[in-house]
Amino acid sequence: MNRQLALILLPVAALLISRAGLPAYQAPPLQPHHTAAGFINPWPGLLQSEHGFGDILKWQRGRTERSPRYRESLGRFPLREPDRTVLDSPGEGLQLTWLGHASFLVQLGGFNILTDPHLGERASPVSWAGPRRITGAPLSADQLPPIDVVVISHNHYDHLDKGTVLALGNGPAWYVPLGLKSWLNDLGITHVVELDWWQDSTHPGGLSITCLPARHFSSRTLWDRDKNLWAGWWLEAAGQRVYFAGDTGYGPHFAAIGRRLGPPDVALLPIGAYRPRWFMAPVHIDPAEAVQAHLDLGAVRSIAMHWGTFILAAEPVDEPPQLYRAAAESAGLSPDQAVLLEHGQTLILP
Ligand code: ZN
Ligand code: ZN
Repeated sequence: MNRQLALILLPVAALLISRAGLPAYQAPPLQPHHTAAGFINPWPGLLQSEHGFGDILKWQRGRTERSPRYRESLGRFPLREPDRTVLDSPGEGLQLTWLGHASFLVQLGGFNILTDPHLGERASPVSWAGPRRITGAPLSADQLPPIDVVVISHNHYDHLDKGTVLALGNGPAWYVPLGLKSWLNDLGITHVVELDWWQDSTHPGGLSITCLPARHFSSRTLWDRDKNLWAGWWLEAAGQRVYFAGDTGYGPHFAAIGRRLGPPDVALLPIGAYRPRWFMAPVHIDPAEAVQAHLDLGAVRSIAMHWGTFILAAEPVDEPPQLYRAAAESAGLSPDQAVLLEHGQTLILP
């Protein structure tokens, strides 16, 4: 090697050697809810949802607040068979059918939309164990009208059911929070739109879809905690607005959503899986907080969800609707404003 070439190469070699000793470059987080490894609830002063293994044991040992067991709760709530003629020809207005838990068929401006569709028997990674339905699914996937859009709030098993996803397949377009696109792609689902909080997208034909903040977490295995984002969704078409909260603890996001996007005509709010509070409050609102969320949003009306379908927490299964009704009454909200539907029931709004 001649001397000149060595002089040119030496600094390059030195740079490469020094780079090798440095940690890999990581881009700074784009937004307060982004971290280098995934996502975080960004509100200072609010508890994070991190609970260690000791807390989980303490939760399991808590004998004072025990939910009724599966068998005692089976068939506790009425199950209506939806009127297929009504579903197949929705009117000009807004029509919502509760399919149990966080699953709704929202018929808005000519679009058929599903929220977190779960029509399976268990909210679990395996078919032989884990929370099992106490109220049947009102419909199977092949009894639904043609679905245009599905929105997914997060990857927990009670919200993202592989069997239902496969049954719906590539018929609808799937709108998911950051990180979930590849999971759907791996199942052969190709039409997926992945969004961050506050990002929106217009579905062809004029349905506006906005991904919104929620105070929750994500995990599907022991190794993927908070690597995918969790979210709520805003659906707007033909001048009507529906807010779907997904799973969430209470926080300033409800008021922010109401301020930024306007009052929703309907807010779909979770009211179950809240006990014990020391464990669940960072990730699940209770019925009174759902009523407060309704007020913060300025919602015209709310429909309670995430109750009476799977036993996921320590409260008695019929407590959420009772406390919700009581909290709504003390806030001066009528049963038409704070709505409780039966499984399979359709609400038709003008
Ligand atoms: Zn969840
Ligand atoms: Zn849930």
